[in-house]
Amino acid sequence: MPELPEVETVRRTLCPRVVGRRIRRVEILTPRQIYHPDPATFAADLEGAVFDDIERRGKYLLFRLGPRILVAHLRMSGHLYVCGPEAPRPRHLHVVFHLDDGGELRYADQRKFGGFHLLGRGGEGMPPGLANLGPEPLSPEFTPQVLAERLAGRHTSIKAALLNQALVAGLGNIYADEALFCARIHPAREAGSLTPAEVERLHGCIRRVLLRAVERRGTTFSLYRDGEGNEGDMYDELQVFDRAGEPCPVCGTPIRKVAVAQRGTHFCPRCQPVPEGVALSPRRARPGRRGNSVRVAAEPPGTYE
Ligand SMILES: [Zn+2]
Repeated sequence: MPELPEVETVRRTLCPRVVGRRIRRVEILTPRQIYHPDPATFAADLEGAVFDDIERRGKYLLFRLGPRILVAHLRMSGHLYVCGPEAPRPRHLHVVFHLDDGGELRYADQRKFGGFHLLGRGGEGMPPGLANLGPEPLSPEFTPQVLAERLAGRHTSIKAALLNQALVAGLGNIYADEALFCARIHPAREAGSLTPAEVERLHGCIRRVLLRAVERRGTTFSLYRDGEGNEGDMYDELQVFDRAGEPCPVCGTPIRKVAVAQRGTHFCPRCQPVPEGVALSPRRARPGRRGNSVRVAAEPPGTYE
């Protein structure tokens, strides 16, 4: 699933090919990928509009077209890219924006969880996830103090807290695991239990990991491609994600993969010690906390969700 660095890379690769272009026609092949307004209004409202800029907020792309904002979310497998009309159409193509230079801005999505919202002039139609986004982790407003305030008193695991977009925007499974390894914090630690020193370390690690991943144009290990169809280069630099069974780059202990917050989670058992009272076995969740994301389940190494 594209996270902040991948979405940012899509934004950067689309900008030079889309900004300044006028939409001649919107071709909607799969109406349900248009969440707001209805597909006919969506197409009619966008025809003739000019892309002024592309911004990113968390994992959302915001296309500015005069007074209107077109919001795109790639979810699990969405792919936005620009190509010529002669390029073969992929099987899971859902929306095509025909541009005035003959190019096509295409939206393909194998699993069809992503799609578009065209906001009204007063912002109507904004997806709730966008309205409730937490701070942007690479912005100056995201300080160790802001992170500390947002983690304080939380009983969920720190992994679940980092995946919560309302708490901090843009992190997903890959970079949450990488940031926690960098900060030497076990993913199942209770979020509110982190010491000020740990929060400060985690804050620095979130930024460092994301900045490096943006520099490397994101991680491709399955479907992700940028706005020109290219893969990202970050995969080789990942320290723990998708590395179960391989030696920890710091201490050599095999990396483990377990379920935390219902997600496959990678960590080094030596660098990131298991917190007390957390069972690392699938049938030994803590009693009375059903659904609590501190539950940690063992999974055979090397499997991938
Ligand atoms: Zn280690």
